[in-house]
Amino acid sequence: MSTATESQLIAPHGGELVDRTGDRPDDLDTLEVVRLTPRELADLDMLASGALSPLTGFMGREDYEQVVDELRLANGLPWALPVCLAVAEAPSGDRVALADDAGEPLAVLDVEEVFSYDKEREAERCFRTTEDAHPGVARLYAQADRYLAGTVTVFRRQEPPFPELHLDPADTRALFAERGWKRVVGFQTRNPIHRAHEYLTKCALETVDGLLIHPLVGETKSDDVPAAVRVEAYRVLLDGYYPQDRVVVSAFPAAMRYAGPREAIWHAICRKNWGCSHFIVGRDHAGVGSYYGSYDAQMIFDEFEPHELGVEPMFFEHSFWCKACGQMASPKTCPHEGDDRVFLSGTQVRELLAKGELPPEEFTRPEVAQVLIDAYRG
Ligand SMILES: [Zn+2]
Repeated sequence: MSTATESQLIAPHGGELVDRTGDRPDDLDTLEVVRLTPRELADLDMLASGALSPLTGFMGREDYEQVVDELRLANGLPWALPVCLAVAEAPSGDRVALADDAGEPLAVLDVEEVFSYDKEREAERCFRTTEDAHPGVARLYAQADRYLAGTVTVFRRQEPPFPELHLDPADTRALFAERGWKRVVGFQTRNPIHRAHEYLTKCALETVDGLLIHPLVGETKSDDVPAAVRVEAYRVLLDGYYPQDRVVVSAFPAAMRYAGPREAIWHAICRKNWGCSHFIVGRDHAGVGSYYGSYDAQMIFDEFEPHELGVEPMFFEHSFWCKACGQMASPKTCPHEGDDRVFLSGTQVRELLAKGELPPEEFTRPEVAQVLIDAYRG
């Protein structure tokens, strides 16, 4: 659909929203089958919906090399992370079926190229480390040695983990247009929303028309809070503390790569495809362990010309309740120190919740804390 209102939204990356859904081919049973990993399956579904526009399939060598070296596709468009399909051997035919881990075929790939790649180099460039203690690097080292490139046609979409939260980029764009929104800020999270995140999403919302809370529900490390618990926590927070007509909550179907700065760029570009003109980047975005500096994910945006990405990053500090200010604040806006600032580490919060105790109300809304306590006890 293309109404006057929708044209007010930011254009997809590269200009057009890609749609790689299509019909199940008649000769499907004759095709060689490639089984995808959870990360590849997540990428496949995002290729289908246009979330990875302008990509139409898994990357070929030229795009891959340029992305790894220069943060750009071969055509010069900014892009931050490889979207590749690893295979042990080149297929014999010119088309293959792509299947889930149960062997159920979902898509067809028109083979364009099979190429070898240097895992250590990809690790060093994309993750800034070659240590396999890094979960993204470990996954990269564990995958097969060649990349299979080609356009995909997805004839069967995967069952989303939270169907009630599933919205494709075309859906959110239609919804934003219906509400008359022009500027929309996207918020990526893989954690429950504490007061600090509530504060920064609301600060951002003060300056735009709408907020897309877009929690990542794809594959994460096993010690992240389970997606079902987070989703329930978002629901109670939204019900109690956000105006319903200014906020959309939907699931971001990507798998975590833990690539820190590069993933922040990638996340911003994906959200542009969902219709976001702005994207919140906090400290330590998409990081893991101590592989990235607190501000690396913000500084990497300076590697592009102003407005080159289209989507505008909004940078935030860690925030807290300040007793002296009597409000939420950050080191940017509050001159006080020490005990005036209500701040708990992740470990402290987990200890309280495990004991069934509510963290201070200035730190976590009680309704959210209750959801987390119930989950810890269950
Ligand atoms: Zn203060």
